Amino acid sequence: MKAVQPIKIKNYINGAWVSDSSGNVEPLINPSNGAVIGEVPMGGERESQAAVAAAAEAYQSWSKLALPKRMDFIFKMHQAMVDNRESLAESIAIDQAKHITEARGEVQRVIEILQMACTIPALIQGETIGNLATNINGRVVKAPLGVFCGVAPFNFPALVFGWFIPFAIGTGNTFVYKPSTDSPLFMQKMMQLIHDTGLPAGVINIVHGNRKIVESWYDDENVAGVCLVGSTPTAKAIAAGCGRNGKRTMLLGGAKNFLVAMEDAPMDLLVDNILISGYGSAGQRCLASSNIIAVPEIHDELVERLAKASKDIVVGDAMDPDVFMGPVISAKAKEKIENYIQQGIDEGATLVLDGRNPSIPSSIKDGFYVGPTIFSDVTPSMTIAKEEIFGPVISILKAGCINGALKMVNSHEMGNGACIFTQNNFYTEKFINDASVGMIGVNVGVCAPHPYLPFGGIKDSLIGNDKVQGKDGIDFFTQNKTATIRVVDPELSNPAAPKDKSVRSCVAG
Ligand code: NAD
Repeated sequence: MKAVQPIKIKNYINGAWVSDSSGNVEPLINPSNGAVIGEVPMGGERESQAAVAAAAEAYQSWSKLALPKRMDFIFKMHQAMVDNRESLAESIAIDQAKHITEARGEVQRVIEILQMACTIPALIQGETIGNLATNINGRVVKAPLGVFCGVAPFNFPALVFGWFIPFAIGTGNTFVYKPSTDSPLFMQKMMQLIHDTGLPAGVINIVHGNRKIVESWYDDENVAGVCLVGSTPTAKAIAAGCGRNGKRTMLLGGAKNFLVAMEDAPMDLLVDNILISGYGSAGQRCLASSNIIAVPEIHDELVERLAKASKDIVVGDAMDPDVFMGPVISAKAKEKIENYIQQGIDEGATLVLDGRNPSIPSSIKDGFYVGPTIFSDVTPSMTIAKEEIFGPVISILKAGCINGALKMVNSHEMGNGACIFTQNNFYTEKFINDASVGMIGVNVGVCAPHPYLPFGGIKDSLIGNDKVQGKDGIDFFTQNKTATIRVVDPELSNPAAPKDKSVRSCVAG
């Protein structure tokens, strides 16, 4: 049998793959079986500085490259993803252990984001206005800023690449990207595909390591801004670090999402969507509906049907087509989730289904598995209802009516997403108007907006106001410059100043 080569994750700087000079490495682990499959460099500060310098140098010519030529690379990236979609999906299923069917979905979503990014020439157009005064015109130009840096969480290695990089470089900036050290494999493959398109050196650079890399960006004068998708404490730390030098930030933080089930909710649709939303990516999703609020009319039936359907969920290796849910990312994450389950019991919630020690195929000897878990009789003050568990744990709360449900949604400090299941127009409109979250779903379990629209929460789920995707994604990576232009007739070598001296114009006077 052919031996499997260990994977060596490398930095990509100035158009070349480079090893880490620090020599510090961490094992790269497949969470489906606990096997060490390679290593990830963990130094990277020196490499990070080299990457920023390369990006700053590349910016000089990249920002001036004709727009159609720049867009050519976005088209080629799109085509490369289409041609390699299965191997890219496998890379996500191996180190992040997202189930292969969901990994394919993530790759497909990034392909759609790249389609959106191909519309940049239409969306980057500024404004002009003529005749503001005699021979005076005004113009707004959307200009790039320089080098942007980005930081990714472990749970969406492809999506976050799509949210940041095509928009940043399509608008004329250059980029330094730090993937999560738990899931660097997608970017290693994707970067090779991008390299093969002939993208000029330094336009995209990849560095691996821990927070020290990010912290080295705060005082680097070549860095125009930093984007993050990650937990709220990380978002706040980056906001503070970037704030001291006035750098731009786009910071998507953590989440705790509610799904409200009204008395007229279509029950089959509701149960199916809770399974996908609650157990997809083993609950490690910023749009997981982990808090379900049911009104009394359907509460008991929902608990019973959800428990029955959850018992049938097959847990196992992320590459196994018969499996619905893979493992969680690490032994540490598994322990944290199990501690939350114990806390739920200790605080008085009813454990309807216990996912600790789930049944998995006997061929699997190791790995980080937590099965579907359901609590009922949960109240908003319980830890499991308040904190982001980031595992396949569903809490069911009770509210008497739409107002009670909205009160629970709105009193939570996070505001990423919330969904309602109903056929009633009044409930729908009230929910859209009154729920204080950034993304709303109506009869959909995961309310992830399409790439043509902005994606992001509010309250503690978004630090600042800048969101990814859609026009917002383009605005973040551009700055508006307003020009006031007097057109001088070349036939008149010395044009006269305006005759009326009684009012001195404040414009172009
Ligand atoms: P994390 O915050 O621990 O790490 C994210 C990235 O930030 C990693 O690359 C990490 O190396 C880096 N980092 C960690 N601490 C840092 C610090 N103090 N300063 C600078 N960089 C630091 O998040 P995670 O565990 O990898 O991912 C899960 C979190 O991401 C969850 O909270 C989830 O809700 C959130 N998330 C949010 C969205 C969204 O759209 N809002 C999407 C996906 C994930």
